[in-house]
Amino acid sequence: MNSINWTEEVSKRKEALIKDTQTFLQIKSVLDEENGTKEAPLGKGIQEALQFMLNKGKEEGFVTKDVEHLAGHIEMGQGEDILGILCHVDVVPEGDGWTTDPYSADIRDGKIFARGALDDKGPTMAAFYAMKIVNDLKLPLSKRVRMILGTDEESDWRCVDTYFKHEEMPQLGFAPDADFPIIFAEKGIWDFYIKQETMKDNHIGAVTVKQFESGRRFNMVPDLANAELEVSNGINELETAFNAFINEHKVKGAYQANGNHVSISIEGVSAHGMEPNNGVNAGLYLAAFLNSLELSQQAKVYFTFVTDYLWKDSRGKTFKIDFKDEATGDVTLNIGLLKYDEQDGGTIGVNLRYPVTYDYEASAKQLETVLQQQGFTITTASHSGPHHVDANSFLVQTLSEVYEGQTGEKAELLAIGGGTYARSLEAGVAFGPLFPGREDIAHQKDEYMYIEDLLKATALYAEAIYRLAK
Ligand SMILES: [Zn+2]
Repeated sequence: MNSINWTEEVSKRKEALIKDTQTFLQIKSVLDEENGTKEAPLGKGIQEALQFMLNKGKEEGFVTKDVEHLAGHIEMGQGEDILGILCHVDVVPEGDGWTTDPYSADIRDGKIFARGALDDKGPTMAAFYAMKIVNDLKLPLSKRVRMILGTDEESDWRCVDTYFKHEEMPQLGFAPDADFPIIFAEKGIWDFYIKQETMKDNHIGAVTVKQFESGRRFNMVPDLANAELEVSNGINELETAFNAFINEHKVKGAYQANGNHVSISIEGVSAHGMEPNNGVNAGLYLAAFLNSLELSQQAKVYFTFVTDYLWKDSRGKTFKIDFKDEATGDVTLNIGLLKYDEQDGGTIGVNLRYPVTYDYEASAKQLETVLQQQGFTITTASHSGPHHVDANSFLVQTLSEVYEGQTGEKAELLAIGGGTYARSLEAGVAFGPLFPGREDIAHQKDEYMYIEDLLKATALYAEAIYRLAK
């Protein structure tokens, strides 16, 4: 049984694999909760995509299960343990600017173009065909192999939350929903709000910040910040000061005065919150500028805090919560949301990511102490601990061997800022589908997957399934 040619087995099924991938991609499985029903809580498209996969499973004679119409599974083999393969059938909205209909699954230049081609319906079909190949070859298995299908990965993960409330947790598994070779470690992710305590006795300054706002999501670096000011003194110098500030810091800005009312904005550069230093946080720059003005007492406290503790310090050094480990790198703080008005005071939304060996409890306490001293409180919006599978485990070792054997490339183990679907498995890694050097076009217009990569991934998944479950 050692001489199975996985690539050839995939080749024999190439036409059907491509056809089924296209049909699957033609289902518009975007979250549509407004039109949700009891049978389709997240909308018709998502439900159709889930049932499509479950039906494919039934056709192969696999055991299938629908879990509250939010998730499902397709299972083959027998045994005490389960090898889980975690996929999702939902996609993000298509957005604008596509060359062809995003749900036509058009094939051009060896690529299938469709929303979900790469994330995650292409790889889901690849993993399904991988199961089918192992089953067709009647290879003996000592574990059950279970493809778990989520329907809400792109939003709130209600699928896996519900699923694992009712169903067994696989002893090992992988998610074909990120990068090859193998992502074995992910940082912890903590989203929280820092809220200013409002002042009873608020002395008004020469400049009143009527409103200040930047950012919409915890995990994005805001690329725009706006402020509305009322200026009672020094309006002539304000524009000069603003221009000097944006020149000095090489950011773009706009200034508009109407009587004593001034609107200013700063433009930054957006980036994923995983590495805030890849972007330019417009909100922090505008806050730093506002901090240079003669503000009300309450505004001064807020903008001074933002400037001293958050501007130009994405590592938490000022809070003394910085840390770094070899596997997963630095603590990072992305300031995704900033908001201030005279009535309610200021709010800050932080996306903090921390390495696997970080003392989260101690740091949270330290952070709270500093915030209290500065007149702020902290509220957790969500927290998901770090995720880590031993590099020497059977799972990681086996996947490495499979990857190296088939591709001839070294299976470098990747540690990332976190957020892959694999973290919903207790012992799970992300394994593909994006090969090193390929452009990551998930969530973008003209999303595609190379047919060549779809086939390569199928062969990798088939051998992985067999070797992990035999
Ligand atoms: Zn995904």
